[in-house]
Amino acid sequence: MVIGGGFGGVNATRALAFADADVTIVDRTNHHLFQPLLYQVAAGILPEGLIAPALRSVVRKQQNARALLAEVTDMDLDGRIVSAVAPDGRRLSLPYDTLVVAGGATHAYFGRDEWAEFAPGMKTIEDARHLRSHILSAFEMAELATDPAERADYLTFVVVGAGPTGVELVGQIAELAHKVLPRDYRTIDTTEAKILLVEAAGAVLGPFHPKLRRYTQRRLEKMGVDVRLNTMATAMDSGSITVKRPDGELERIPARTRIWAAGVQASPLARLLAEATGAETDRAGRVAVLPDCSLPGHPEVFAVGDMVSLNRLPGVAQPAMQEGKYVGKLIRGRLKGDPPPKPFKYFDKGSMATIGHTHAVADAFGMRFTGILGYTMWGFIHVLYLIGWGNRLGTLYTWARALTFSKNRAHRIITFQQAHDEVAHGPPARAEPARPPVRARQGAV
Ligand SMILES: Cc1cc2nc3c(=O)[nH]c(=O)nc-3n(C[C@H](O)[C@H](O)[C@H](O)COP(=O)(O)OP(=O)(O)OC[C@H]3O[C@@H](n4cnc5c(N)ncnc54)[C@H](O)[C@@H]3O)c2cc1C
Repeated sequence: MVIGGGFGGVNATRALAFADADVTIVDRTNHHLFQPLLYQVAAGILPEGLIAPALRSVVRKQQNARALLAEVTDMDLDGRIVSAVAPDGRRLSLPYDTLVVAGGATHAYFGRDEWAEFAPGMKTIEDARHLRSHILSAFEMAELATDPAERADYLTFVVVGAGPTGVELVGQIAELAHKVLPRDYRTIDTTEAKILLVEAAGAVLGPFHPKLRRYTQRRLEKMGVDVRLNTMATAMDSGSITVKRPDGELERIPARTRIWAAGVQASPLARLLAEATGAETDRAGRVAVLPDCSLPGHPEVFAVGDMVSLNRLPGVAQPAMQEGKYVGKLIRGRLKGDPPPKPFKYFDKGSMATIGHTHAVADAFGMRFTGILGYTMWGFIHVLYLIGWGNRLGTLYTWARALTFSKNRAHRIITFQQAHDEVAHGPPARAEPARPPVRARQGAV
């Protein structure tokens, strides 16, 4: 049984392709989401289908694997039963011999969960669709506004958190405002949009080399982004965000669009595993696994990806993929009676982020790349890791059309109702709290 069809879960499943095993992959979505390109869905560049192939089609050729659409709510490790809820609310009991948990992570608001209502994050396809509607609705409302102050509020976009996601999103909003939309609006000048990137730390792209950080900041500023470092969000409401500036003063920034890209926490499934096995969790709620990714006292239970802490690895795609593959191979070997493999060892392939069209930073193979070279590497790697040739070619075609030839964004569809919902009610209730609560069963789990 594999819980989660993200990078960790899919790689574990695929590594079991030739094992003498029946593999069930359970996910609360029906697709494998390529999160690194989610911001392009939010920006209207890519249609979601290209980055979210159906899990069923991902495992179509793998005869020993099947996919189930259900939300896992509980795990009884002693009884070896996973409890889940079907979309119609039916309770499912799914027995297993070996369990791989790859539930990923979700947004963290550092104890200010109420901010989720005012500053949505981006983790799922629903989040990206919602952000797209919200950004486009803001421009539409600005076009309709007659009061200059109201118009300015609609044309102010604040992204909180200058990690790769925040940088990529803010870069896309800047491109929309400065390159794509000016031709299409008659009343407003979209280049007057105020686009702010707010970061509590002293640099953008914290974990990157200082040279790449400086390049990124300069580039964003050239694109019209107001980069506010050492600046912390302290309050929010439906029409503004308040920040504490480096001089200690509070500043209220009226803005109808605020986007949260500042933190993540592990899936609640990590806490369940920790409670069941006595494993530690870290500040981000990630469960500490043993060097072979198994849980203490349960050699038949593994956890991988964003929800685990192992060797201080970052919560990015490569560790999840490599851990998933490692665990799949370990289980395959175990079924064949092979001796246990060596502990998991991570191969660092580097990190990269884009800063709008033709600019990116990449830190790979001990070298650092910027500009078009970094961008080409970024594009190559991302297309390579997409699942399916159709999606790879479709993405290349869409990029060529949207970014190079038409300089347009084809996926800009909103309806009156969507715009009304965005403007009148703000973001929809976030997915995590809306679901049935994940229960911790005393003793059994
Ligand atoms: C916007 C964004 C941009 C990113 N950009 C990059 C990047 O450029 N480079 C990079 O290396 N990494 C990037 N990452 C991080 C990378 O995507 C993650 O590290 C990676 O997806 C982790 O893989 P995973 O398998 O642990 O979790 P995920 O890929 O998140 O998969 C978890 C799966 O579990 C399912 N699930 C969760 N809970 C349950 C449940 N209770 N029941 C059933 N199913 C459940 C979810 O639906 C999901 O399909 C980005 C992440 C985001 C959000």
